[in-house]
Amino acid sequence: MSQRVPVVEKITKANDRIAALNRALLDSHGVFGLNLLASPGAGKTSLIEATLPRLRGRLRVGVVEGDLATSLDAERAAAAGAPPVQLTPRGACHLDAAMVHDALPRLPLAELDLLIVENVGNLICPASFALGTHADVLVASTPEGDDKPYKYPSMYGRVDALVINKIDLLPHLDFDMERFRRGVAVLSPDAVAFPLSCRTGEGLDAWIAWLAARTRPKRGAG
Ligand code: MG
Repeated sequence: MSQRVPVVEKITKANDRIAALNRALLDSHGVFGLNLLASPGAGKTSLIEATLPRLRGRLRVGVVEGDLATSLDAERAAAAGAPPVQLTPRGACHLDAAMVHDALPRLPLAELDLLIVENVGNLICPASFALGTHADVLVASTPEGDDKPYKYPSMYGRVDALVINKIDLLPHLDFDMERFRRGVAVLSPDAVAFPLSCRTGEGLDAWIAWLAARTRPKRGAG
């Protein structure tokens, strides 16, 4: 008899307990936490780069980077204005609550309004590990194809907001936006969607407005 299922349940429960501690810590500092999920190359880091300058002077943002092996994403986030805490989940295909728990004390939480956690690029493993953040934001991108909600239901079934990146490429692709959004609607009927292009800036205003509406500045951002 396989003991696999009980072990997985135990791990998930332990993770959930640490995630609850993370949530309490963020709440006690009035920080709104985002878990940024996506497949590799969808544009998580590009979204961070596009978002930070547009929030400057309005919200103070911290970043946690879950890049697997390099500091490339961390360098891009730093250049965009938020020197991140870098996690290196060596060999892991996801971040878990304990990794974020270790990162939180290294952030100036009292000075922050918003925390963006860039998860590892993967549409399977990160779906099973809550981090204690307040919202799961999935970055999809048009070159991935309109079938992804159908192929990755556990990921697409847990999103609060969906960024549909690279809409500037739509004229070159057979991406059926209606088919894609029908798949999302079945799995996450309450998810709000933001078709946008980090490259051209089209559609970013609606995303920024959504973020700003969810994040209450503790005091004037400096
Ligand atoms: Mg990245």
